[in-house]
Amino acid sequence: MTSIRLIEANPGKLTALDALMAVYLKSFRTNRANAYQTYLEDAADYEEARAKAEAEGRVSTFKRKEPVWQEWNLPQLRVPVIQANANVVVVEKSKDSMFDYWLRVSTLGRGHPLRVPVKLASYHKQVLAGKTLNTSTTLHKRNGVWWLTLSFDEDVPLQTEVSAPLVGVDVGIAHFLTTSTNKEYGSFHGKMARQHKRDREKRRRKAKLQACLEKKGVSKDKLPSTSSETSQRLSRHVKQEINRAVNELIKDHPDVRLIYEDLNVASMRFHARSMNAYLYASHLGHIPEQLAWAAAKQGMAAHTVRAAYSSQECCRCHFVDRANRPTQKTFKCVVCGYQDHADHKAAVTLAGRWGDRELAACHTKKEIKVLLMTRHEKWKKENEQRIKGAGPPIQLSFWDLPETFLDLSQA
Ligand SMILES: [Zn+2]
Repeated sequence: MTSIRLIEANPGKLTALDALMAVYLKSFRTNRANAYQTYLEDAADYEEARAKAEAEGRVSTFKRKEPVWQEWNLPQLRVPVIQANANVVVVEKSKDSMFDYWLRVSTLGRGHPLRVPVKLASYHKQVLAGKTLNTSTTLHKRNGVWWLTLSFDEDVPLQTEVSAPLVGVDVGIAHFLTTSTNKEYGSFHGKMARQHKRDREKRRRKAKLQACLEKKGVSKDKLPSTSSETSQRLSRHVKQEINRAVNELIKDHPDVRLIYEDLNVASMRFHARSMNAYLYASHLGHIPEQLAWAAAKQGMAAHTVRAAYSSQECCRCHFVDRANRPTQKTFKCVVCGYQDHADHKAAVTLAGRWGDRELAACHTKKEIKVLLMTRHEKWKKENEQRIKGAGPPIQLSFWDLPETFLDLSQA
C-alpha cells in the first residue's frame, strides 16, 4: 500500500472529485437511514412481542433481546474517503510520458468517467517496481488535498513444511467447516436461521400493508418500501460468521496442510431442499474462497481435491453407495460396517485424496466411481479370508479394532 498525492495539474478535475464525493456521502447517508429504519421496525416488533408476553403473563420466560441502535461511524465526514473496486475506479498505465497513471473514476453520467492524472514520486516508483497493482483503490481527502492509495498483491512465502500433517476440511450447512481432526466451526442453524425466518415474516407483513394502502389510494411514491435491508444484513452476517469460523480453524491448526473440496455450489443449491438451505447454500461458495485467502495470508499450504463421492465413499473399504448414508448425519458402510459422523468421515476422505494421482487423472464422475469400486474389489479380495473367518456380516463392526480382529481370525 502506498499513498500518492494527487497533483493539481487540472484543478477542475479535483473539484469534480469533490462533487463526486458528495454523491458517495449521500449514498452512505441513505444506507444509514435505511439501517435506522430497519432498527425502528425491529424495535416495534420487539415491543409488540413483549406486550403480548406481558398480556399472557409470561414475561419471566420472555427471552428475546431488545434491539439496540449502534450509531454508524462517520469517518467519511471527517476525512472524505472513496474506497473503490474496479467497478468505480480503474487505474490505467499512462501512455504518454507526462504522467504515470490515469485514474478513471465512474460518475453518475453514464459513459462520462472522470479521468485524473497521477504522477509518482521516485520512492513510489521504487515501492511499486515489479509489483502488480490490484483492483482495490482508495481516494481520500486530507486538509484539502486528495490522496490516492494503491495496493498490490504480495506473495507470502509458504511456511508449511513438506512433512506437515494433512488436515481434511469438509464444507457444509450444518457446520460451515468440519475437520478430519474432529472439530466443527460455525453453523447456518440456530440464531441465523431464526433471524432469516423473522425477516421473511416481516417482508410478508410489509407487502400486505402496502397492498392495503394501495387499495386506499395512497400514491405509489408514498408507500413504504418492501425492499429487504435485513436480508442484506443477514447476508453480511453470514459472511462475517464464515470468516470467523475460518480464522478459528486456522488458529487451531497451525503448521498443517489443509485439504478441502473443490466445491460445486450450483449443485448444492440444486439439492438443497428447503428455501432456508437454498439461501445458505448460495453463501457456501464464500467458504472455500475465504479458506484459500486466509491460508495464503499465513503462508499456509491449502489444496483442493476432487470432491466426487467424498460423502459416500467408505474410507476403509472404498465401497461407494448412497446407502452408506442412512441419515444426513451418519455414515455407515453397508459392506464393512465402518461407522462415523458423516462430515468428519468426508473430511478424512478428502485428506486422503491429496496426492492421489489416479483420482486426479479421472475426467468424469463416472470414472471416479469406477476407480473407487476397483479399489473396493481389491480390498475385498485381500480381506475375503478374514471376512469369512469373522462370521456373519453383522459382526463386521469389530473392524474398528484391528487388534481384536487379528486375535479372532487366529482363533
Ligand atoms: Zn466399508
